[in-house]
Amino acid sequence: MTPGASETLMVSVSGVRGIVGKDLTPEFVAHQAAAFGALVRDGGGSAVVLARDARTSGPMFTDAARSGLQSVGCTVIDCGCIPTPTAQLAVEHHHAGGGIILTASHNPIEWNALKFVGADGLFLDQATAARLQALAAGTVPRASWDGLGSQRTDTEAVERHLSLLLALPVVDVPAIRARGFRVALDCVRGAGGTAMPQLFERLGCTVTGINLETDGRFPRPPEPIPEHLGPLGELVRASGADVGMAVDPDVDRLALVDETGRAIGEDYTLAFAVEAVLRRQRGPVVVNLSTSLVVDDAAAAHGATVARAPVGEANVARAMRAAGAVVGGEGNGGVMLPALHLGRDAPLAAALVLDLLATDRRPLSERVTARPQYAIVKAKAPRGADLAALYTALESRFADATRDRQDGLRLSWPDRWLHVRPSGTEPIVRLIAEAPTAEAAEGLVAACRATLA
Ligand code: MG
Repeated sequence: MTPGASETLMVSVSGVRGIVGKDLTPEFVAHQAAAFGALVRDGGGSAVVLARDARTSGPMFTDAARSGLQSVGCTVIDCGCIPTPTAQLAVEHHHAGGGIILTASHNPIEWNALKFVGADGLFLDQATAARLQALAAGTVPRASWDGLGSQRTDTEAVERHLSLLLALPVVDVPAIRARGFRVALDCVRGAGGTAMPQLFERLGCTVTGINLETDGRFPRPPEPIPEHLGPLGELVRASGADVGMAVDPDVDRLALVDETGRAIGEDYTLAFAVEAVLRRQRGPVVVNLSTSLVVDDAAAAHGATVARAPVGEANVARAMRAAGAVVGGEGNGGVMLPALHLGRDAPLAAALVLDLLATDRRPLSERVTARPQYAIVKAKAPRGADLAALYTALESRFADATRDRQDGLRLSWPDRWLHVRPSGTEPIVRLIAEAPTAEAAEGLVAACRATLA
């Protein structure tokens, strides 16, 4: 059971993912869970929250993970099928030593994964994730008959999550309820069906939904990017909804469709959430290095500055904590509010977007066209041996740019940027550029390719 033994088994700081039945087996999951339990016990903890998304392999892997955890003496608190942010909050609520979430997030239907949460409700940092995999590479000491862990279930996690978020000072529940919004919803048959309809009901919305079943049989590619949201757009038009909302299978990302049925791109989710928060509470904003300038514009409109962190929820969460940020997240629709917790949270994002719409009656489409427009181009190129030399060459090629080397190289100007970073999973570099026009963004990528050649 050595991690990395197969081409599709991927071990990273965010967890271990693989293809169900090929490299992700109950034996492997039980072993990883036992190693995580040993890590929790080493840290003086005992209880571990266990949760899953809606994938068909979830119940089977829950049984395996529970066995692994009990075998090292951990108490298992099984929350069942719930959103990832709900599970992170459950770890904090129970003062657990950690959490395991069985979810492959937006990955295709054949994948599943273990994601590991620390006692603080954040995903593990790099050093702790490495310690965990070192433990998993060895023999995990098991408890004997009188030292096995117990188990119990928690069916209140979603209810607690929604209550906490609706009590936030930045969410004006009476104002939202007074508007009686019509919301079209697509949960892609993931875990969203356990929480999103309930959230909208408490916010006085009329919901028309598709794919609210929680059976994990995704009817389309599960990432909530515009090209996958055609059916939601049709639903918005057919139902006359004020807004369409789509979540990914584990409900940490939210994407929006405007009232005309057009998917506006995930970066606007964070831009609107930032605006909703900054109207009521000033403070720093932290986003990742590949997040669109639409978020900077939203922050600037309220006199706030934006700091950037390496890509990945754990990195952004820790940078937000260090900066004392009031709001932040990732441009892929992942909104984080430290007043609630440091995890990407789609129910939170949905409430913030409705809060913004409740107090300013402009429709979503107008809010988008009223802002500066940008085009983002994402490309990839073969990865050479010497990344440092590439970065230096790019820095001299674009000598007038501001440089950031926290995560690959990001070169920026007031209205455009270029981010070059090695892929964690393929022998390539990713090239991402944003500029006021697609032509200008393509130009940045082309100049970057010329430097690579
Ligand atoms: Mg996700």
